[in-house]
Amino acid sequence: MRIDVSDIKQETGLHKKIDLSVSLEPIEFGGQEARFDRPFTGTAEIWNLGKRLLVQASLTGEAELSCSRCLGRYMEPLEVSFDEEFVEGEPGEGDPAVQEDEDTGRTVSFYTGDEIDLTDPLRDNILLALPMKPLCSEDCKGLCPRCGANLNEGPCACDRTDEHVDPRLAVLKDLLRKPDSQS
Ligand SMILES: [Zn+2]
Ligand SMILES: [Zn+2]
Repeated sequence: MRIDVSDIKQETGLHKKIDLSVSLEPIEFGGQEARFDRPFTGTAEIWNLGKRLLVQASLTGEAELSCSRCLGRYMEPLEVSFDEEFVEGEPGEGDPAVQEDEDTGRTVSFYTGDEIDLTDPLRDNILLALPMKPLCSEDCKGLCPRCGANLNEGPCACDRTDEHVDPRLAVLKDLLRKPDSQS
């Protein structure tokens, strides 16, 4: 989302608050794809600090992810807040497009003309906010390790009583069971 800063860039100390609505392309992360069907919405305050513009943004939205247990797609609510500084001009030749302010530790991006773009900083901060181990719910039952059925949709045909048996004991149990199954 591009934001017009022509009204505050002329004079140090000027400040404004704006509403945000930012649409994002899908992001690859952790071997899967996070999708964003609705734009992230929120507000940003922008200060002219002289050589830099400081943006403090806070947005909410949701990502469609794959659950790491049952592999089903679900919506993960997300809240992101970040500070970003913008410097007018271009990065020096060979310098990265995003740098760090050594005094504040804030991320510094560049802009030209009268507009700054919050899409990249938002995407970077969403990547940090995405769960390492996405779960559709805290008590997702996952997939049956034997038949692969989604156990959230009900029990499968496998014998669930074996579920928590120590594998070494399970071997014994199978041995013990064999005479029964043959009779
Ligand atoms: Zn799940
Ligand atoms: Zn099963």
